[in-house]
Amino acid sequence: MRIDRTTLRLTLAYLLVASLWVLLSDQLLDLLAPAQYKHLQTLKGLLFVTFSAFLLYALLRRHAIHYRRAQRTMSTSEERLRLALDATRDGLWDLDMNSQRVFYSDSYAALLGIDKAALGDTREQWAEYLHPDDRQRVLEKIDLNLQGTQYENVYRLRHADGSYRWIHSRGRLLCNAAGQPMRFIGIASDITQRRADEDSLRQAAAVFDATQEGVLVTDARQCIVHVNPAFSRITGYSREEILGQAPTLLKSGRHDSAFYHDMWHALERHGAWAGEVWNRRKSGEIYPQWQCIRVIHDAQGAISHYVAVFSDITALKRSQRELDYLAHHDPLSNLPNRLLFTERVAHAMERSQESRCGAVLLLDLDHFKHINESLGHNVGDLLLKTVGERLQEVIPSGVTLARLGGDEFGLLHEQCHEAAQAAELAQILLNSLHAPFRLDGNELYISASIGISLFPNDAEGVEQVLRNADSALFKAKSTGRESFAFYAQELTDYARQRVELASSLRHALENGELRVFYQPLHDLHNGNLVGMEALVRWQHPERGLVSPVEFIPVAEENGMIGAIDAWVLEQACAQMVRWNLERNGPQFVAVNVSSRLFGRVELDLHVAQVLAKTNLNPAQLELEVTESAVMEDPAAALTLLTRLRALGVRLAIDDFGTGYSSLARLKRLPVHKLKLDQSFVRGLPDDPEDAAIARAVIALGHSLGLKVLAEGIEEAAQADFLRELGCDYGQGYHFGHPQPAAVHDQARAAQRIQAAQPPAAGN
Ligand code: C2E
Ligand code: MG
Ligand code: MG
Repeated sequence: MRIDRTTLRLTLAYLLVASLWVLLSDQLLDLLAPAQYKHLQTLKGLLFVTFSAFLLYALLRRHAIHYRRAQRTMSTSEERLRLALDATRDGLWDLDMNSQRVFYSDSYAALLGIDKAALGDTREQWAEYLHPDDRQRVLEKIDLNLQGTQYENVYRLRHADGSYRWIHSRGRLLCNAAGQPMRFIGIASDITQRRADEDSLRQAAAVFDATQEGVLVTDARQCIVHVNPAFSRITGYSREEILGQAPTLLKSGRHDSAFYHDMWHALERHGAWAGEVWNRRKSGEIYPQWQCIRVIHDAQGAISHYVAVFSDITALKRSQRELDYLAHHDPLSNLPNRLLFTERVAHAMERSQESRCGAVLLLDLDHFKHINESLGHNVGDLLLKTVGERLQEVIPSGVTLARLGGDEFGLLHEQCHEAAQAAELAQILLNSLHAPFRLDGNELYISASIGISLFPNDAEGVEQVLRNADSALFKAKSTGRESFAFYAQELTDYARQRVELASSLRHALENGELRVFYQPLHDLHNGNLVGMEALVRWQHPERGLVSPVEFIPVAEENGMIGAIDAWVLEQACAQMVRWNLERNGPQFVAVNVSSRLFGRVELDLHVAQVLAKTNLNPAQLELEVTESAVMEDPAAALTLLTRLRALGVRLAIDDFGTGYSSLARLKRLPVHKLKLDQSFVRGLPDDPEDAAIARAVIALGHSLGLKVLAEGIEEAAQADFLRELGCDYGQGYHFGHPQPAAVHDQARAAQRIQAAQPPAAGN
């Protein structure tokens, strides 16, 4: 028993006072009043008892007050403890080491969903609730901890619902002053949920680290606070480099502000956004990624983070492209296949609505079957591949060549404004197959047939245009192979002629088949011959004289126009020099210049050379350029005309009235003459509109200081009318047809002889 010092001191004091009282009080009584000693003795005894009783009362009262206060304090702290345990839902256990009985709080029993009584009060009863896998470990640990002071353990206990709950138990062993264990006390908490949360957190962290997708987390101010290893692998930025930066560092610059605006708008409205983004790696490489962004809110609903998860889709895109390529190309020839060809035709037809025209050509090899049958499919395949390559070499850029299957090829010409262009292409394709194919030791000759359909003229839909080209192909095959045919018959005839014309025109110059005819130009006021216009003709060996209206456009297309015009120029200049030797010959010769020569810098040099070579006075050469050619490219025309004018030659605008001239431009052109187009002369003098135009052109020309010549005057009335309007010169059958120079010369010689002869006697 522990000795309380205060109590001992009080008791000793009492013992001393009481002993002194007992020892001294009787002697004092005897001294003071020996007679009444007996009574006083009794009184003294009563006094002592009364004093002791008071003392006892005071002590007991003090003790009772202390006890009650301690009681109150204890129950308050017990209540507090209970409330605290209730609030944390923790349970209290208390093992009395002497009795080996365990006390459990209500909240402990509540952890397991059972009644406190069901728990019992022994360790063995409690151990019944332990998970079999945990039992041995847990009991061993308790025994071990009974020697220490601090105790902590985690195990599973069976709940009333049959499930096991994870319990975290902490406690300590309490010993008395002698170090004897008195109590083992502690609390137990249900950590089932926490463990589950921790498990899922651990799993999430593992996923975060192991996932192939890049993950980037920013705070609300878009400062990067977290990235995973995949992020670093994809972007090339390490964690240390990127943390604290803004995601804008990754921007590729490929998207405009509208793109990011839409993205933020979606994040604000829906809290999430997903889409394709092009970003930039640390290396500077730009790559596509599929990205999902999600807004994270805190418990108060304010934005706390943004999480972006993305995957690099470069490889996906590449394989998509590869797949796309495979789906749209023929594996043998590597050319676009029927699917892609049809798509391109459809696309071109859509665009052809905007006034553009195109052509579809179907090319089929003649008698290909025989090659397959006689030489085998390997050679057949090789031939198809080589044919594809050869065709590819000759087609102009912008034309799609496809292998549609078997021995059929398709071509799409999107810039085909005229049937002639398609025919020319067809001819090029046919010609390209003329040379033999040397395959696998065989020398093969092959030809093809081509069907052509034009759009939007022939057809409005893809299927129709392909069907039409197919029936044109059939037509080409049935008219004796190695040829082409249009869906429309008249086009086939016309185009054939043009192609034939084009190929024979190539030899016309060298074969000396071109001629220059001259047509007189007259002064309308005095009727005198002033000049001659040189007009080219083609003396075709089979067709006879061919008009320039027919072959000049062909020459302009196949590039021969330069050579033809140069030849005509030289002939005309040489002829003019000869005329200069005559007394009443023309004063100048007019030569037409094609618009196709406008772009050529050397044109003026060439004119200067011819003038020098023929020794002709430049003032005697008049060059005619058509009004439409000038207006097609006014800047080029102005440059060229200025250069030509500097040579001292005269310049005339041909076919004036048909080319929609702008007056502002016309004013600046360094020309001398306007040639009123014959279409406005034809109706004169009766047609009031033609008369108004003729009058206006003459007035306009004069006001600009130009001379005006009227073309196509066939009747005297027309000449008279134009003269009255003030027109300076005239040209047309009325004055003379285009004829070889010799014919004109003979006529003029005859005139001279006639004029020189004296009137016959007797006349
Ligand atoms: P252009 O320069 O306007 O030539 C006048 C055309 O009108 C000539 O046709 C001529 O024969 C025709 N003509 C003349 N008087 C009359 C008439 O009273 N009535 C009718 N109905 N027609 C008449 P052609 O010779 O067939 O030449 C046609 C066009 O070919 C020329 O028109 C010119 O633009 C072009 N051309 C002719 N020769 C050449 C040349 O050497 N080089 C170039 N680049 N173009 C040429
Ligand atoms: Mg002319
Ligand atoms: Mg003309």
